Amino acid sequence: MYNRRKFIKLSAAGASLAALSPSKFVQAAATAPAAQLPIVISTWDFGVFANKEAWKTLEKGGRALDAVEAGVRIPEADMKNHTVGRAGYPDRDGHVSLDACIMDEFGNCGSVAAIEHIAHPISVARLVMEKTPHVMLVGEGATQFAVEQGFKYEELLTPESEKAWKEWLKTAKYSPVMNIENKQHTPGNKYNHDTIGMLAIDAKGNISGACTTSGMAFKLHGRVGDSPIIGAGLYVDNEVGGATSTGVGEEVIRNVGSFLVVELMRQGLSPEDACKEAVKRIIKKKPDTAKNIQVGFLAINKKGEYGAFAIQPGFSFAVCNAEKQDLLVPGKSFY
Ligand code: ASP
Repeated sequence: MYNRRKFIKLSAAGASLAALSPSKFVQAAATAPAAQLPIVISTWDFGVFANKEAWKTLEKGGRALDAVEAGVRIPEADMKNHTVGRAGYPDRDGHVSLDACIMDEFGNCGSVAAIEHIAHPISVARLVMEKTPHVMLVGEGATQFAVEQGFKYEELLTPESEKAWKEWLKTAKYSPVMNIENKQHTPGNKYNHDTIGMLAIDAKGNISGACTTSGMAFKLHGRVGDSPIIGAGLYVDNEVGGATSTGVGEEVIRNVGSFLVVELMRQGLSPEDACKEAVKRIIKKKPDTAKNIQVGFLAINKKGEYGAFAIQPGFSFAVCNAEKQDLLVPGKSFY
């Protein structure tokens, strides 16, 4: 049974949504998951705003693929968001390097990893899917492809990100440690892993997903996490459902996390139980590591039932359909 400690209830019109910080919406309560389609769900508090954008496509009867691309472009463009898109914190050498992938109802998928100078990696990933015979482009090749497709080549390192990076350099001595960076720069938010993973089911019942991130702040140059890797950061099977992940990507990759969640749903587990089982595998494989990291999974099945589970408390996810816009916190975690 899906169990949540907190949820938010937003006005359907959402007129004041943009003016408010999502955390202000959190109130104690619990509800059963909605199955009304179309529906869109996404990771973390900023998923509220991303869902709202995706909903514009879904409510008109549009395709889930278009909805998820449009939705995740919102945090990608947000200058205050230092974990996704154009204002993402750089790697340890000062390069802003972004990862993203997208997957549709036909099993088509596209991905870019360690792409630099392009503000919307999700849209590049979509074009990799639609205009090339490949699934994944990385680094300079991904940037070159984006420029050829008409994307603007930009310096993405913002003065704020540069300042944070230079601060980090003073103490971290070029030795990135998972989570430490984010703990330093967001006091009070211990596990600030803020990839956006989004899953949508459109009015026709088709499922698509998108996932985009700047990855771990101050990572090694060239490091790629789970987020652009189909099966790890995102997986969709139109017969079963979809899953996405956030948190320390290395542990998700080791367990092919999102594919695992979808396969567990295929075997009959609810979305929440499938996410919980995937989290358990991560803990079982590396119990000492798992104590100090965050990984969260979010999933939806073909019926529109959704669920999430994370190693640590603090994970949130946003849900939007015709009935509601909620920000939810999984009810349990292992630590
Ligand atoms: N999963 C992302 C990565 O490892 C980071 C995150 O979600 O915080 O790159």
